[in-house]
Amino acid sequence: MIFDPVYFIFVMPAFLLSMYASFLTKSRFNKYAKVAASSGLTGAQAAYQMLRKENLNDVAIERVQGFLSDHYDPRARVLRLSPQVHDGKSLSAVGVACHEAGHALQHATGYKPLGLRSTLVPATTFTSKLSMPLLMVGAFMSAAPAGQSLMIIGALLLSVSVLFTLVTLPVEWDASARAKKVLVRDGIVSPAQEADAAAVLNAAFLTYLAAAISAVMTLLYWLYRSGLIGGRR
Ligand SMILES: [Zn+2]
Repeated sequence: MIFDPVYFIFVMPAFLLSMYASFLTKSRFNKYAKVAASSGLTGAQAAYQMLRKENLNDVAIERVQGFLSDHYDPRARVLRLSPQVHDGKSLSAVGVACHEAGHALQHATGYKPLGLRSTLVPATTFTSKLSMPLLMVGAFMSAAPAGQSLMIIGALLLSVSVLFTLVTLPVEWDASARAKKVLVRDGIVSPAQEADAAAVLNAAFLTYLAAAISAVMTLLYWLYRSGLIGGRR
């Protein structure tokens, strides 16, 4: 049997947490996109100021289309900010912009988890294409020993993606910590606004946490299904 109700017991709680985190991120972003940061700076200006104060003068800031599409590109050394963040003067805009500037600072200072995360990208791209077909075929043939072996190989390949989601956690947490440190210190938001700006970043972190839990639970399910854990073999 390919379809297994046990799968939902493993994966459903993390799936629900992901849905909640995604909802919370969007709703908090939209809520604090309506609250002006006390400095009157746009997201792009706040990120620029944060980079300059750390003497990071060769990172470009670009405007890209999309909603919450903001990211730092370590290869091009460019901060790409969505229109609402780039041009917005809100708590959401400066919070997210400084978070992305935090990634640029991680890169410039050789922050180890970011390097590890970048190293894992090509491996994850490769293994994630192979793992699901192997697990599916393995589950289909699960009565035969070859089926068990395929599922174990699939689970090993899947563990690379799991590692990637786990390494992402310190990277994201640290980028937000760097943003939170400068927001009030450098006068981007007032002390009274600090908690609200942080709330936007905390919701975003919850989505990464949910993704990691989901990945771990998916791996545990396949380890269980292959008989490696839980004595099902
Ligand atoms: Zn980030």
